[in-house]
Amino acid sequence: MSIEKFMALIVHKYGGTSMGSTERIQNVARRVAKWHRAGHRMVVVPSAMSGETNRLLGLAKEITETPDPRELDQIAATGEQVSVGLLALALQKQGVKARSYTGWQVPVRTNSAYTKARIESIDEKRVLGDLDAGYVVVITGFQGLDDQGSVTTLGRGGSDTSAVAIAAALKAEECLIYTDVDGVYTTDPRVEPEARRLAKITFEEMLEMASLGSKVLQIRSVEFAGKYRVRTRVLSSLTDPEVNLEQEAQSGTLITYEDDETMEQAVISGIAFNRDEAKITVAGVPDRPGIASKILGPVAAANIDVDMIIQNASHDGMTDFSFTVHRNELQKALAVLSDKVQPEIQARDISSDGQICKVSVVGIGMRSHVGVASQMFETLAAEGINIQMISTSEIKISVVIADKYMELAVRSLHKAFGLADESHAA
Ligand code: ASP
Ligand code: MG
Repeated sequence: MSIEKFMALIVHKYGGTSMGSTERIQNVARRVAKWHRAGHRMVVVPSAMSGETNRLLGLAKEITETPDPRELDQIAATGEQVSVGLLALALQKQGVKARSYTGWQVPVRTNSAYTKARIESIDEKRVLGDLDAGYVVVITGFQGLDDQGSVTTLGRGGSDTSAVAIAAALKAEECLIYTDVDGVYTTDPRVEPEARRLAKITFEEMLEMASLGSKVLQIRSVEFAGKYRVRTRVLSSLTDPEVNLEQEAQSGTLITYEDDETMEQAVISGIAFNRDEAKITVAGVPDRPGIASKILGPVAAANIDVDMIIQNASHDGMTDFSFTVHRNELQKALAVLSDKVQPEIQARDISSDGQICKVSVVGIGMRSHVGVASQMFETLAAEGINIQMISTSEIKISVVIADKYMELAVRSLHKAFGLADESHAA
């Protein structure tokens, strides 16, 4: 980041853990005050205090199991309102001029999809006016206003998206996401202790990592960052708030675009995994045109997302068909198959397996390197791990394997692709 650039406009986002107590909020204020004193124009987007959103949603559930989503948003949005007010007070105590706003005051305009609203526009005038007058502006994460004047929220973890969207609207130099991990790793360090923090990763890779199971950022925030080219950095909020600013500004993981000259060209950037899927096999169905839509049409009509799909080579005019769904939706999918699909297609057998996992290797280097898939398959074969399904995109290869081999698969792939090497990471 060009922190030497005097008066750069910077957005900071702080998660619930960083905002967890008035003491921690004062640490956030110290950190923000340091950036402000260095001459930067600061906008801060905090989440609710940790546990607060769950508490609020829990209150609603005490009244009804099926709450009106509009009222849920009205309730859930209050968590962030408390946070911004407390943070503004803490900044003032640091001798910094500060002003807080809720989403509807800015306003941050969204559609009316309560509990999962999408940001449509952000009015930057008020915020820019305050920045010009020397204020630090504190804006609630997670919420906005629809065109009927109702408060909306962006879905769990939505403050990440608020921060990136605000950074895009204000054309900020960089959006720094302060969180309880110190960056994005080659894989989850709890599975592979040799995992390394990446100094940089591209938006596309980050998007794959997020949708394949890495939980560092809300997926939508990465989409936003990619679309509007917002330099986004994930870094730790647990360091000393007074740590040297230059050092802090280079820490964590920078999410950026590919044509950034200094982007190192590792073939593989990371390994993601996900235990949330289950596999369904429809065996012994006639192999003729339309069979896939006869099976998957009713599943889609029931609003069940299908991830991987595989159809075997046919044998005597019959074939087997497998696909994966979210584990929570397995029972629902099986019910659709037995009620709506089976009477039509008369499959020999319908079975399911919840003991599977998906392991993926991700890297933009795959575009220009051949042999990544074969190296992945050889590595798994050498460990005696059977691959049940495969799917690929331009920058990722995913396999479905038995759940019990997940750790072994992640570790051996991490090693095979040299991800623990110094040269690969931060
Ligand atoms: N407070 C909201 C949540 O807990 C939004 C966020 O933290 O990003 O989901
Ligand atoms: Mg979060």
